[in-house]
Amino acid sequence: MTALQVLKTYWGYDCFRPMQEEIVREALEGRDVLAILPTGGGKSVCFQVPALMQDGIALVVTPLIALMKDQVQNLQQRGVRAMAIHAGMTRHEVDLALNNAAYGDYKFLYLSPERLNTPLFQSYLSVLKVSYIVVDEAHCISQWGYDFRPNYLEIGRLRDRIDAPVIALTATATPLVAHDIMERLRFREENLLRSGFERPNLSYIVRKAQDKIGQIRSICEGVPGTGIVYVRSRARTQELAESLKADGVEASFYHAGLGPETRTRRQEDWKSGKTRVMVCTNAFGMGIDKADVRFVVHADLPDSPEAYFQEAGRAGRDGKPSYAVLLWNGTDEARLRQLQEVSFPSLEYIEDIYHKVHVFFEIPYDTGMGRLLKFDLAAFCRRYRLQRAPAYYAVKYLEREGHWTLSEDMDIQTRIRIETDRQQLYRTELPDPQMPAVLEALMRMYTGIFSFPQPIDEEAVALRAGVSVPQLRQLLYGLSVNHVVRYIPADHATVLFIAHDRLRPGNVQLSPKRYQMLRSTYGERVQTMLDFVEEDNECRSQFLLRYFGQEESAPCGKCDVCRSGAARPKDLDAQLKAWIEARRGRYTLHEVRAAFGQADENWLEVLRELIDRKDVPPYA
Ligand code: ADP
Ligand code: MG
Repeated sequence: MTALQVLKTYWGYDCFRPMQEEIVREALEGRDVLAILPTGGGKSVCFQVPALMQDGIALVVTPLIALMKDQVQNLQQRGVRAMAIHAGMTRHEVDLALNNAAYGDYKFLYLSPERLNTPLFQSYLSVLKVSYIVVDEAHCISQWGYDFRPNYLEIGRLRDRIDAPVIALTATATPLVAHDIMERLRFREENLLRSGFERPNLSYIVRKAQDKIGQIRSICEGVPGTGIVYVRSRARTQELAESLKADGVEASFYHAGLGPETRTRRQEDWKSGKTRVMVCTNAFGMGIDKADVRFVVHADLPDSPEAYFQEAGRAGRDGKPSYAVLLWNGTDEARLRQLQEVSFPSLEYIEDIYHKVHVFFEIPYDTGMGRLLKFDLAAFCRRYRLQRAPAYYAVKYLEREGHWTLSEDMDIQTRIRIETDRQQLYRTELPDPQMPAVLEALMRMYTGIFSFPQPIDEEAVALRAGVSVPQLRQLLYGLSVNHVVRYIPADHATVLFIAHDRLRPGNVQLSPKRYQMLRSTYGERVQTMLDFVEEDNECRSQFLLRYFGQEESAPCGKCDVCRSGAARPKDLDAQLKAWIEARRGRYTLHEVRAAFGQADENWLEVLRELIDRKDVPPYA
């Protein structure tokens, strides 16, 4: 099958999107490739198609468990064998999965990065037949990026053990970051493919507003169709949604602190159109693709252009006119500057938190690797009389440094272990006549249940045992009171996954140089956001594209700056020239008018001069 046939067969799409085909071709020819496509640009297809066309299994490294599960499910629905290994699985489960990856007929193995340097994974490397090393969200490998994860550095090391080409993908890489990614992934040759980041149907509107709620209300009234409103705090999602509902807007709210069922239901209601406007934190939207979102409002100023561009870009995937509205005022500015201070507590403080966390969990020196701990930040702070914000950022900093992974708001499956042995089990008198059926079901469905606490699928067990899910929970509780099983009920918690044994004081070795670097790049991103909202001469789209390294763009003609007529293309002649060169010298007058005419009336004159000077070829 050709690549196009694979695309048609498994996905039912008629053609590739811009750049997908080129990226697939590079991968099929065995070259390392870094692909930069905007969110929603179709990055998954870029590695899934070539991996389906080669023998062996593709290792896909990706940082977000929720997205990982989504993608695996998605592939399975298309009849492709895929599976995932992530933080939160027991050693036994991981072993089983790796065994399947090595000897089963799987095409994709999704991995969270902290799995890469575990001895268990390493022990399987020699028997895995790897087609590609795929690095999704590849910007996480760059210390210059906005979301650096030290565990990603392990991927570079993988290349010593696995001889397979790399496919790296990201939506957000400045030129500096792109270069860094290729270096750290040890590209044999630099090979960067990027598609344009223009969103011609999207109007960026930035508005300084004291009355944000009033603004949001009038956007909801004025723009028909589905929308998203991003706010920073969980509490505000609810407040704002309620205030909109009071005004007759079908709004709902979403954040990661809600239970899994509620989240799924709200997401579905929004996708189906039952809910028109979702007020949410940035936990919403990842992995959801709804094409007809007409507006995205940022009610608070985001702290990085990367995050802003991704979130705003969820509007108008269907190509129809849409709005990205950013509301801000002096309070946002003050808050961002303050955040910059608390996000980086001192290194001494951070190291102190490292030890306090271990003491909190009673982990002795030189032990602790691989432990999975339920981490209650509030309790931790109470115990040591700490302020929450700096303690939280210290824990996050230590995560960046690879000491642990903090998974906030994890949904933890119910786990069961049968505590008595089989023989004794049959002799034990059970207080409820339905209990034997439950135990029977558990034993049949989970072979390891006598040795490890097994994550169980409550619905399936209940079905098999002939009881309802609430009844099952009651029965399990009863069994645990009678010491027949150990019952760890499903939970929603923040989990800390310890990456290595506890270090002794003096060995934590946080580098002051890295600290400075992280702090200053964070500051630069904040500053870029502030510049963005305060800018009143440069087209919004051009500003963002320039930040991501795309110099040859034209004014969009539809952002607030362009519309006000204030967009003065800086160096119109240089821009025209770059734009024409990007088209390899082929262009029509009509195209120039569409690109530059709305923002500047001098374009024709400038173009003529350029042609006269033979700086550019004449138009067709
Ligand atoms: P990204 O990872 O770049 O954000 P995804 O890989 O999640 O984007 O793709 C976004 C959506 O576009 C998905 O629904 C995907 O199935 C769809 N898509 C990808 N490639 C094509 C194509 N060639 N034709 C039509 N739809 C596509
Ligand atoms: Mg993706």
